[in-house]
Amino acid sequence: MTATGVSNSTGGTLYVVATPIGNLDDMSMRALKVLSEVKLIAAEDTRHSIRLLQHFGISTPLAACHEHNERDEGGRFLARLQAGDDVALISDAGTPLISDPGYHLVRQVRAAGIAVVPVPGPCALIAALSAAGLPSDRFIFEGFLPAKAVGRRTRLELLKEEPRTLIFYEAPHRILECLQDLESVFGGERPALLARELTKTFETLKGLPLSQLREFVEADSNQQRGECVVLVAGWSEPEEADAVPAQVLRVLDLLLAEMPLKRAAALAAEITGARKNVLYQVALERQKG
Ligand code: SAM
Repeated sequence: MTATGVSNSTGGTLYVVATPIGNLDDMSMRALKVLSEVKLIAAEDTRHSIRLLQHFGISTPLAACHEHNERDEGGRFLARLQAGDDVALISDAGTPLISDPGYHLVRQVRAAGIAVVPVPGPCALIAALSAAGLPSDRFIFEGFLPAKAVGRRTRLELLKEEPRTLIFYEAPHRILECLQDLESVFGGERPALLARELTKTFETLKGLPLSQLREFVEADSNQQRGECVVLVAGWSEPEEADAVPAQVLRVLDLLLAEMPLKRAAALAAEITGARKNVLYQVALERQKG
């Protein structure tokens, strides 16, 4: 082990190395050191990575490790590690395993008792979140949404009341459909941000409520190009009674006078279309009051 120091495990070390997501100046000193010193680099696309390595004057041999061969070929990398060679894993851009290959290899290598060391660096979701101005204390990364509309909407319905900031990767040719579905499921008022072409010449970070963000992208076809991350603020509990219209409260009050609280809230929700859990909370408040 040359690049990071001591390891307790046997054999070589697998370094999981993040590479730039656009701007080559984001390559870390440590990443360069590790990639120069390891015996072999497992790369998602060797033709793509050779250009990166050439740019930095690194001549370490490359071998393919992509989603189609990762499970089967993992043994090959493992054998090299077991023989004592250090190996690095890289993807086409950003952090391996984050919507990129590497999970099966890392799992297999760890299971064999070989050290796996992260060499952190660029990651589109973290870069976008760090500049979005949306709550960042808790967030969830949903990766790519299903490509087909039905699957996408079903997934979004499940996330509708997720309180943490939501982060999605999306392909440029689907960004408009994605924003349309986000708006129809989460509502047009929900704060959101589109982070496009991060670290590159046409980098754009546009933060707007979902309906305006959708309009912005619809009106400018340039916004439907390049790589993008979509962030959406998490769901927040409406200000209970303030958010419930007066006519709904009247229905709730009438029912509360006639039946138990839980039943009244459920029935009022059915009659008015308001959310049952909100009406239940409001009913509790009204009873206390
Ligand atoms: N492993 C990468 C990472 O750490 O971010 C992600 C790889 S995934 C196959 C590619 C997706 O990441 C793109 O479709 C896009 O959603 C996002 N992405 C990657 N680079 C980006 C960039 N420069 N700007 C915005 N989004 C980017």
